[in-house]
Amino acid sequence: MRVFFHPDYVAPLRPGHRFPMSKYETTRAALAAAAALDWAEPAPAAESALLAAHTPGWVSAVLAAEVPPALERRIGFPVTPAVARRAVLSVGGTLAAAEAALADGVALNLAGGSHHAMPDHGAGYCVFNDLAIAALLHAEAGRRVLVIDLDVHQGDGTAVITAGHERVATFSIHCARNFPVRKARSTCDVGLPAGAGDGAYLAALEAALARLIAGVRPDLALVQAGVDPHRDDALGHLSLSDRGLAARDALVRQLLVDRGIPFAVTLGGGYDRDVARLGRRHARTLLVLAGLPVPPSLTEADGADADLPTGPRPGLLSARA
Ligand SMILES: [Zn+2]
Repeated sequence: MRVFFHPDYVAPLRPGHRFPMSKYETTRAALAAAAALDWAEPAPAAESALLAAHTPGWVSAVLAAEVPPALERRIGFPVTPAVARRAVLSVGGTLAAAEAALADGVALNLAGGSHHAMPDHGAGYCVFNDLAIAALLHAEAGRRVLVIDLDVHQGDGTAVITAGHERVATFSIHCARNFPVRKARSTCDVGLPAGAGDGAYLAALEAALARLIAGVRPDLALVQAGVDPHRDDALGHLSLSDRGLAARDALVRQLLVDRGIPFAVTLGGGYDRDVARLGRRHARTLLVLAGLPVPPSLTEADGADADLPTGPRPGLLSARA
């Protein structure tokens, strides 16, 4: 299975910045230690690809690293040349993973899922919307594309950018009382109350996503696999356990694999002061979505919930107990 990573996914921020930039490297390290994978570096996305979802003004401001301070504040970090390069590489990784998924069934990008980015500005740590760009380019090629957004925050930018497109559908399951305050309208939104746990989450996810997949019959799915619904997440407000998160990932995989739908997985959100632990959390999610076993080394260090599914087809019922 192909996995896309680039060392420049990590761009320097000022010391102490609350965005956990180094998680891209800790996730890579945790995943590399857990499984033998086919690693590749993505090429930067072409400017023409960025323009599929964004205005020329926004694309040129980012590429020149000349974003006005008021718009940088909406993103949450300054758009330096390194941050601009990271944004273009993240889009390149998602585009490459989507191509690889069409060939191989599933592929991973260890960045991306920048679902808050809007047509003419960034927001919420997102600069360019890789999901919307990939969805629109594949829709232009005649494919029906479904974006499955599992991040605890609503995929508002993706919904806005792709709204009304006949071959793009968007799904977002998120905490209703969380950023963004003003929600956009996805094709299907599942807004859960703060504090919702494994049982309520999984029941809502299965019912809504199975119905949507049956209706859309996508040729390609793009998964935003944020781990911020986890109960220990700093920005989440939901209460999924490690088992619940794994059951989520196994359920999404099963719904897609059972219908022969290829899918690319992007990293998405996840916030924890302990970035090594955060990297393991992301790596577990990626492994389960990829249908690969989760080795004990990825669970033991975190103490709780060590009984994660370890087979290629995890048992949903036992995980839900
Ligand atoms: Zn998030």
